[in-house]
Order: sequence, then C-alpha cells, then structure tokens
Amino acid sequence: MRYAIIGCSAAGINAIEAIRSRDKKADITAISDEKRPLYSRCLISYLLAGTITEDKLWYRPDSFFKENKTEAKLGVKAERIDTDRKEIFLQGKEKIKFDKLLIATGASPKLEDIPGIDKKGVYPLRTIGHTLEIQSMLDRVKSVAVLGGGLIGLRAAYALKNRGKKVSVFVRSRQILSRIVDKGAADIMQKRIEEKGIGIMTGRSAKKILGNGAVNGIVLDDDSRVNCELVIIGKGVSPNIDIAKEAGIKTGWGIIADDFLKTSHEDVFVAGDVSEAYDVALEENSINAVWPAACEQGRIAGLNMLGKNETYGGSMAMNSIEFFGLPVISVGITRPKKMVYEEIVRTNTAKNIYKKLVLRDGIIVGAVFVNSVDTIGIVGALIKNRVNIAGLKDIILEDYFDYGKIVNLIKDSKGRFKQKEFRETTITA
Ligand SMILES: Cc1cc2nc3c(=O)[nH]c(=O)nc-3n(C[C@H](O)[C@H](O)[C@H](O)COP(=O)(O)OP(=O)(O)OC[C@H]3O[C@@H](n4cnc5c(N)ncnc54)[C@H](O)[C@@H]3O)c2cc1C
Repeated sequence: MRYAIIGCSAAGINAIEAIRSRDKKADITAISDEKRPLYSRCLISYLLAGTITEDKLWYRPDSFFKENKTEAKLGVKAERIDTDRKEIFLQGKEKIKFDKLLIATGASPKLEDIPGIDKKGVYPLRTIGHTLEIQSMLDRVKSVAVLGGGLIGLRAAYALKNRGKKVSVFVRSRQILSRIVDKGAADIMQKRIEEKGIGIMTGRSAKKILGNGAVNGIVLDDDSRVNCELVIIGKGVSPNIDIAKEAGIKTGWGIIADDFLKTSHEDVFVAGDVSEAYDVALEENSINAVWPAACEQGRIAGLNMLGKNETYGGSMAMNSIEFFGLPVISVGITRPKKMVYEEIVRTNTAKNIYKKLVLRDGIIVGAVFVNSVDTIGIVGALIKNRVNIAGLKDIILEDYFDYGKIVNLIKDSKGRFKQKEFRETTITA
C-alpha cells in the first residue's frame, strides 16, 4: 500500500504515526511546503515574545521521518491531485502515486486587500518563517499596528509588547475575540489588556498601509494616521481547500468529512484545520481549528486509511486563554444567533468574574468562563454527555452550587468520565 499525506503539521504527523504503528511495511510519503514542518504552531507567538527559545518549539525531532520510515518531500508544494489516476503533482515535475491520500493542508492567514499590504514590514503570524522574519526586524521597530482582535492578533500584540514595543490593536467589530467569546467576556479581557499597556480600538479598521517600500504608518477608516514600522495582520484564517476543490472533492467552508474522516472520494481522507467535520455542540459539520482536534483527526484518518472503521466522535470549539493573569475558557456555542438557545449569565464585576452557559432544550451547548474556570471540566463533560440540566439552570452558576451532586451524571461507577475525557486547549499569554 502507498500512503500519501499532504501537509505535515499536527494532523499529518499524527496520521503518519497512526499508519506506521499498525503497518510496518507500507510506503508513506509526506509532502510539506514548509522546509521544517515538525514544530508546534501554537508556540510561535511565545518565540516571538522571547519567552521560549527555538529548541522548545519542536513537536517531533528531525529524526521523525527516518524513525517512521517516511519519505519526506519538504519545501515543496503539492499543486494538483488526479483522483482518477491517483497521482499528486508536485511543484517542479515530480509525481507521487498513492493508494490512499490524506489532505492535511491546514489553513492560511486571510490577507485583506488593503492598499500597501505588500510593503516590507507587513506580516501575518502563522509559521515559524513569519516569526523569524518579524524577529529579524525588531531592532528597527518602535511601534506596531495589529490589524484584527482575534486570538492570533492578540497573541502577537502580547508578544511584541513583551519585546518593549508600543502596540495598538485595531478591531473592525465591536469586541475583541468575537469568534471565541461573547461581548461580556470580551469587555473584561479588553480592560485587562489595556491596563497592561496595549492599545485596543474597536470599530476601527485600516484602509491603507503607508510607506516608501517599508511601512511607516497606516490610515484608519476615519482618515486618522497611526505611525508604525511593523503591521501584523491577524484577521483569521481560511482553510486550504483549493487543491481538493480542483480535484472535484466536495468542499464547503472546508473539505467535507464523513464520520470516518473520508472525503467525497473513496480513497481520500481529510484532517485538521482544513476539515469540515462533525461538531458535537453544533450537531453538524464545522471547522474547529485547534491543535488537539487536528491531532485526533489525523490519528483517526490514519487508522481509517489502513481500513479500520474508527468513527470520529466529533470535536467542539474549545479555547483556554490567559492574558496577563486573567484565565478565560470558552467551549462550544458562545454567541448564539438563533432564538432556540437560552443563556444563563452570572457576573461579579469587582472580581472580573463572568460565567455564561448556553442551553438548547435544557442541554448545555456552550460556555464562557472568565476568572473562575475551575468547573469548566465538568461543564465540558456535561456538554459531551448531553446531560439535561434544565432543573438546575437557576442554581448551576451560583457560587454555592455543589458540582459533586451531578458528577454521577457524567462519570461511570469507577469515577471515569463516561465519554471521551474532556480535553482543553491550553493557551497562555
Ligand atoms: C500563532 C498561533 C497560535 C495558535 N495557538 C493555538 C493554541 O494555543 N491552541 C490550539 O489548540 N491551537 C492553536 N493554534 C491553531 C493550531 O496551530 C492549528 O489548529 C493546527 O496547527 C492545525 O494543524 P493542521 O495540521 O491541521 O494544519 P497546519 O498546522 O496549518 O499545517 C498544514 C501544513 O500543510 C502545509 N501545506 C498546505 N498546503 C500545502 C500544499 N499544497 N502542499 C504542501 N504542503 C502544504 C502548510 O504549509 C502547513 O505546513 C494556533 C495557531 C497559530 C497560528
């Protein structure tokens, strides 16, 4: 059997390990357009902040391909897939034949069409390459404009503040982190970040990047000018679906996965940030672009490429963030747009505490907890087990509520969580 894997980060690496763990003889070829792809993408902002060194970044050692008897085509882009002939065409003239293929191409930063975006000193933050390039120019930078108030934008802002730069974040929407938390939680976080010296302007976007070759400022949508020598684009990501779409594989927002992470083509699988797979909270396919989901999907897709029938149990949007000592965890649906959802909120402004549950027919489908995150493991398990808490909804967020009383709803007789243990992403800043 010949297995090919396009993309060699969280999803691709875990797929290679799953295949090799069960099949010692198979031919495996991994293709990555990054020259050294085996690093943890989640850690690059800490490298930029100077809080870790490059040696802490590696998710697998350089010997990984050799140890897993995998032929690695690195620094080369896969340009086209011919699903009938089962061939991948690489940049240059090379062709790779496969019996089973995994597409694990992840996502790329959204780069807005702002005039001046091609100037020197404008970067997204997605790869180790971006990180090292930004680092190499920091001596010449006094002020930084971050465009976008999502997780990547804010982590870049934190990193550059830590490097002693003046940092201003411009967010088009009314709140920061609008994909992860609701406004109540966002406002508490924004206040904390601003108190630590990072400027945040919501409802503002850049309409032009200025400079003669290199950046020297931006013009905002109210025509005001902000001077800066570095611009970070943190406007979110788009899944890299083109190669699948052009091959006739079914795509939507991402590449559509079935319960076994197979695409619309019998021999092509998908995993990671590019996959539109089952979401437990939404009860439909969606993209949950987080590292643990990519690893789990890569592992399951790898096993299913071998012919095992492993069902993918689904993921949930999960983020655990800590900005300047303020822990925040969000799970599932946090900003419901339909009337079918009910929200329960408790706040303690003096203590910066904010707790919210989102319910559908008595079942928790989302949660946001700020500065009081101890019970989120139980809440996550309640979501996964689809426990109806309608009878508890008036008291479940009160400080006196004893979670011990409901543990039997989510644990078995041996005290283990009934379903897959709730796993959270750990992000700290
Ligand atoms: C700064 C930052 C911080 C993050 N922090 C966290 C965090 O704290 N917690 C968390 O859970 N998640 C975090 N994430 C998200 C996490 O990194 C992603 O969910 C994860 O990397 C997805 O893995 P993946 O394998 O699906 O795709 P990716 O990591 O995107 O890897 C895909 C790989 O495929 C390559 N590729 C794409 N197209 C081709 C092609 N045609 N030919 C060859 N190669 C190709 C890409 O270059 C890339 O190397 C963070 C992301 C960033 C950028």
